[in-house]
Parts: sequence; structure tokens; C-alpha cells
Amino acid sequence: MNGKVHTLAGVVAAEGAIITFHQPAFSVVTFLALLGGFILGVAADLDDSDATLAQQQPFRFFSLIFERLPFVHHRGITHSFLAVALLYLLFDTILGLPDALMWAFMAAYVSHILLDMLTADGVELFWPFRFRLKLLPSIIAVSSDERSIVQMLFRVLLSVVFYLFTIHLLINALGFLPVIGPYINELWNGTILSFLPQDIKTWMVY
Ligand SMILES: [Zn+2]
Repeated sequence: MNGKVHTLAGVVAAEGAIITFHQPAFSVVTFLALLGGFILGVAADLDDSDATLAQQQPFRFFSLIFERLPFVHHRGITHSFLAVALLYLLFDTILGLPDALMWAFMAAYVSHILLDMLTADGVELFWPFRFRLKLLPSIIAVSSDERSIVQMLFRVLLSVVFYLFTIHLLINALGFLPVIGPYINELWNGTILSFLPQDIKTWMVY
């Protein structure tokens, strides 16, 4: 998958956690969750200095050193259960982050591994065991090529969900405005969201 799809998926995953924990749009937790989602959606590729995030400072400096470590290779440790477990330990046990923030970070990181599992190369999910796990047979696996049709569909689908979540968060935040607040709240939550399946609507509405 290319960096843009990973970034978008990371932000959408973080927004999903924000909605699950009913965090207001304008809060420190939401801001940090979205920023973290943006970075953690691509962070696993710091094992490859040619990747999108690894091209930017200060990540470039870290990536150049990290990639030279003897046990690091692309789609190895950073794309494994071990990395997910270590991050959980860091965010939950060591840093004691609030649940909404912790799950936003975790969801963004895991989204990267899941998307890479849809590609022909797969990931070493059970690192240090070196076999690569992939969810699709090579013939229909997603190409990392920017012009790949499946990759483009992912971008479109993730963009739609991104706009849906973003508008939802903003409208819920505007609910406090006099007169217009309750009106747009009712219009969005009561009318527009009613086009979604009931389970999704129940989950989304604050
Ligand atoms: Zn990757």
C-alpha cells in the first residue's frame, strides 16, 4: 500500500476510536488522537528509509539508524504482533494514556498491518518467524503501485468514511450553538444518518 492510503486509514481509525469513546471534536484528546493516527498509520514503514514518513525529518534520521539494526528489515518486526504488543505496553501500562487516545493510536497502527496483509508481499506477522502472512492470493492481492485500481478504490472508500466521520464530529461539536445547534444536530443525526444501517447509527450517535 502506498503512504497516502496508510495515512488516510490511520486518521479514519483514530476517528473511529474518538467516536466510540464519544470524545468531543474540539478537545486535546481528539487533537492528539488525529495527529497520532496520521503518524501511526505510516509508522510501521520506518523500517524502510524510502517510505513516505521516513522521507520527512525528524523521522528520516530515526529511520536511517533503525533500518541498519541487524534484526530490522522491511515488513518484519514493525509489522508484527510483537510490535503491537510492545506499543500496547507503552501506551497503556507505561504512559497510562486515556482509553480513547490509546485505542486511537492502536487502531491506527494495526490498520497499517491489516492493509499490508492485503498486498502480494504480505507481512511477517509472527516475527521473529520469517514467513509472510497475506490475506489474498497473489492474483487478486493489492498492488503497491499508485495506479492500482484496487488501491484507488481503497482511497475513495476511506475518503468517504473520513468525510462522514469528520462531519459527524463537527456537527456534534456545534450542538451547543443556540437555535441552529439543535436544528443541524437533528438534521444530521435524525435524517441523514438514518440512511446508514441501524447498528452503525447507534454506534455513531453521541
Ligand atoms: Zn508497511
